[in-house]
Amino acid sequence: MSTIFDKIISREIPAEIVYEDDLSLAFKDINPQAPVHLLIIPKQHIATINDITEEDREIVGHLYWVAAKIAAQYDFAKDGYRVVMNCNEDGGQSVYHIHLHLLAGITMGWPPFANNRPKQV
Ligand code: 5GP
Repeated sequence: MSTIFDKIISREIPAEIVYEDDLSLAFKDINPQAPVHLLIIPKQHIATINDITEEDREIVGHLYWVAAKIAAQYDFAKDGYRVVMNCNEDGGQSVYHIHLHLLAGITMGWPPFANNRPKQV
């Protein structure tokens, strides 16, 4: 299923792209949650973490390599940053094309669910 990120890959809709290679694209999040908030996506469509296959291991690892490369390039590697991939409703996923959130420029809190009650399971 096509998502807004496919339209960013094909340049049908604009985004502030900061990195691109054959396998991936990185661009600024439209609603930033930190001074630096980038999204790193594979060009190949994979809807959620649950859909990652054995053949996809290289591309998923590649996304982390891109995160480290950007962190070094933008000089926040040493200070630190957070890389997050949300999965489905409880994970907070809203766009069903896997993406790493790369957040930096602020000291992060932990845990990320501090203000929410656990659901009944
Ligand atoms: P998720 O909630 O799926 O983990 O993250 C989706 C992210 O995509 C959100 O942080 C949201 O702000 C971002 N986003 C949604 N639509 C667009 C868009 O059209 N352009 C950009 N640059 N980011 C988007």
